[in-house]
Amino acid sequence: VDTASAVRARDLGKRYRAKWALRECTFDLPKGRVAALVGANGAGKTTLMSVLSDLLVADEGSALVDGRVAFVAQEKPVYRHFSAADMLRLGAHLNTVWDQERAERWLERFEIPLDKACGKLSGGQQAQVAFALAIGSRPAVLMLDEPLANLDPLARREVTAELLSEVDETGMTVLLSTHVVSELGGVADYLLLLAHGRLLAGGDVDDLLTGHATFVGPRSDA
Ligand code: ATP
Repeated sequence: VDTASAVRARDLGKRYRAKWALRECTFDLPKGRVAALVGANGAGKTTLMSVLSDLLVADEGSALVDGRVAFVAQEKPVYRHFSAADMLRLGAHLNTVWDQERAERWLERFEIPLDKACGKLSGGQQAQVAFALAIGSRPAVLMLDEPLANLDPLARREVTAELLSEVDETGMTVLLSTHVVSELGGVADYLLLLAHGRLLAGGDVDDLLTGHATFVGPRSDA
């Protein structure tokens, strides 16, 4: 992997039976950035993140991720009868590298009660527990599937601010997906635009706006 890239994908493809959900995806994700994976429902965002996280095996092409990945799915993986503190204990148990302080700090910032059963927390609070678990595993690349979807605007601003401060502090790379661009509130400075499983464009937001983006559609050199 090129040392500046957190993720390097080449001609990545994934199909469910005969239907290609992802096709010819080629891109590099620069390190230490917050990148947005943007696309309509069904565009292939979850599939791409699952392949990059090794939850699904690609049918074509290759993907290299430089370091550990944490993936937070849309359905937040918290156990109803476990408290947030229990979830962190589980995180410590399941991860070879674990930063309890960072995970706790995330929960504190969002005032998540540590001892209440997760099933009794709001959806937004459960999401924070899932984010804290991911942060505690000290990933080099943090992938969040629609993390801002069920948050109110204030919580959204707080989450994005905290993500940016984690990126500043640790140099990790964040890839978050959304189908609502306005949700992003300027947090991402790098964009991957996905439609029908194909990457239409990828690059710095500034480059995209000035027309200097790399268009990565069907390859012309193949
Ligand atoms: P959403 O925002 O709705 O989750 P998405 O952009 O994440 O959409 P994917 O969930 O990756 O998109 O789905 C891409 C395509 O693959 C869709 O057409 C979807 O119906 C199909 N698909 C996803 N998972 C499966 C599966 N397990 N079996 C069959 N088809 C699937």
